[in-house]
Amino acid sequence: MWESSMVLAVDIGGTYIRTGIIDIEFTIRSFEKQRTVEVIGTKSKKEALKNLADYLHDVMIQSGVREKINHVCLGVPSIIAKDKDYVLSTPNVPALQDIALKSELERNLGLSVSVENDVNLSTLGEYTLLDQRKYPNVVGIYIGTGIGCGLILNQRLFTGASNLAAEFGHIPTRLTEKHRQCNCGLYDCLEVWASGSFFDREMKKAGRDNEIPSIFVDYSSDMLKTHIVDIFFKYLAFGLYTVNTLLNPNMFIFSGGVVEMEGFPKEKLLDLPYGRLRHESVANSLETKFGVLGEKAFIHGALEYYMHYT
Ligand SMILES: [Zn+2]
Repeated sequence: MWESSMVLAVDIGGTYIRTGIIDIEFTIRSFEKQRTVEVIGTKSKKEALKNLADYLHDVMIQSGVREKINHVCLGVPSIIAKDKDYVLSTPNVPALQDIALKSELERNLGLSVSVENDVNLSTLGEYTLLDQRKYPNVVGIYIGTGIGCGLILNQRLFTGASNLAAEFGHIPTRLTEKHRQCNCGLYDCLEVWASGSFFDREMKKAGRDNEIPSIFVDYSSDMLKTHIVDIFFKYLAFGLYTVNTLLNPNMFIFSGGVVEMEGFPKEKLLDLPYGRLRHESVANSLETKFGVLGEKAFIHGALEYYMHYT
């Protein structure tokens, strides 16, 4: 049934909606990127949903392979209900929350649809490039405005009892005081101190907003930047040590806008998970690398998801 199948992959982000059509040989047939607000509008949920469906319909028609597409897989920056249909929370795209996204789109598009967390899909995409028997347990860490995470355990995507596993960015860093509120509503989550928004916040506080894009370029010779970058790595290390202790993974795969910034100390990040180990055997079985598929990882992930998770 799969021989002539293609999948429309959709990544919905706060800034951009990306789409890609991929065939069963993992060849990407098309890739598009549009500003989210221009696609879905800003008014009602009903309008947003209709605009999204119309846009995806147009993308498929313009691809020239509409009749070969038999599944649409969406990656969303959201908390998705247990039924993998209803979207409970999407802080960055509020128009797409509190709706039955999967069933509404299925009705609109006349195709089967799946909805999954965006970083789960991109981790799954990177995982398609690995020898999965050699690396059964892999952790994807996406460092952007916040921190996303995807978990592969025993060669399968692990999403937890209610789709809220792998919330690496929301590991608590303190409990007895309330220092700073996270976007999730809780206080002092890891991403409050280790994310792109942390750099924005601290540099703005110092009145040096214009230097945010170059924070890594000269951080070792600038006291403020040294301080900020040190805090970032300290909290990131805390999270990575926690994951190592809990899961003893085969690999960490890092990606996201922050690791792609000019001057980012890549070697430092690759070495970071080895900084605190219960036993050297943890290090001997652990590898670290950067993702190679970039903003197209979700497209590979969508095909993998269609073949093995729907
Ligand atoms: Zn949080």
